[in-house]
Amino acid sequence: MADLVLVVNAGSSSIKLALYRVTSRGLSLEARGLAEGLGGRGPSRIRVLDGQQTTLLDEALTSAEHAPAIDRLLRWLDSRDGNDRLVTVGHRVVHGGPDRSEPVVLNPAVLNELALLEPLAPLHQMHNLAPPARLAETRPELLQVACFDTAFHRTQPPVAQQFALPRRYTAQGVLRYGFHGLSYQSIAAWLQRNRPELHTGHIVVAHLGNGASLCGMRAGRSLATSMGFTALDGLPMGTRCGSLDPGVVLYLMDNEGLGARELEDLLYRRSGLLGVSGISQDMRELLQSGEKAASEAVELYCYRAAREIASVATGIGGLDGLVFTAGIGENAAAVREQICRHLAWLGVDMDRSANAGNAQTISSDDSRVPVLVVATDEEAEIARQALALAAD
Ligand code: ADP
Repeated sequence: MADLVLVVNAGSSSIKLALYRVTSRGLSLEARGLAEGLGGRGPSRIRVLDGQQTTLLDEALTSAEHAPAIDRLLRWLDSRDGNDRLVTVGHRVVHGGPDRSEPVVLNPAVLNELALLEPLAPLHQMHNLAPPARLAETRPELLQVACFDTAFHRTQPPVAQQFALPRRYTAQGVLRYGFHGLSYQSIAAWLQRNRPELHTGHIVVAHLGNGASLCGMRAGRSLATSMGFTALDGLPMGTRCGSLDPGVVLYLMDNEGLGARELEDLLYRRSGLLGVSGISQDMRELLQSGEKAASEAVELYCYRAAREIASVATGIGGLDGLVFTAGIGENAAAVREQICRHLAWLGVDMDRSANAGNAQTISSDDSRVPVLVVATDEEAEIARQALALAAD
């Protein structure tokens, strides 16, 4: 008999799942799953594969709601052979608000508190909370834990969290929260285990996925980040604009008559790499495209990323190491190279063949700043956090 930890990461149209076995050497991945086509964007399907990519479950879902997908997964878990015991479910929840700096055991009161944060993360929070709400109904005995994307950044000093707005907005929680914290915690833990001399230094981590942000950290504590009140700020992303002069928003309201929902659609879903290239939000496609607009979008992405890296490094008082992670950070050598070229003045010098091979260290021996490529594992981080609370 083994103890199991389930990780649930629910977005607007999909739920990512991971199942871990608790062993004497830590957590071992048992299976990964994906329910997709949810939220009315069907066709809906759920698939679960084991570590060897063998299919364990693959079927169409009759409903495009989140709750039935979770129900189906639990029925599958129950139907497995053996006496394995699900000890906890860890949920990714984007926003923990100003007070949550640690994961928390979910109960009806906490679920209600987190639902109140929806205005701070309108595209994520309610989807994140749908599976735990369903499980609270159908499996009230199950220990459920919320792990927050904002929590890691609660250690930022006040000056890094404040906007230059009248104080009453700061007091009511209009702050630079920062996101992707679970990814940054996963990288911080990796640095502590594998590169302890860097772990204690001034490190900037670039999480470059569909969403993208930076975190400046020291000794596993976040001190600055490029994202702000929402996950729109900072770097340009697949479809999000990143930092934007708020005057542009006023201009679009006044001169094009755009309302809040239209602006939301423009800034979250039609900007970034997609908006600039007019071709795709997908970095791999843009790098393969021969179109001028594609290379211009990549150029802007890298230029802005480099500027923001220097800004975050200033925020933490130095740059002793730079880490690339997530889909683009881990795989797109051409993007890393362009970004590092802009940072040559800071003493960043790349080893081009190590970079082309996605090596762990991609800086040259002469580089003043070591540059690393490290795979992030947000699901494993959630499992670790949930299990730690379950063991308490
Ligand atoms: P998410 O934020 O959805 O988890 P990922 O971290 O998987 O996203 O990152 C997705 C991005 O990574 C996409 O832009 C994709 O094109 C890019 N990507 C993945 N593999 C490669 C590759 N080999 N070369 C270039 N870009 C890649």
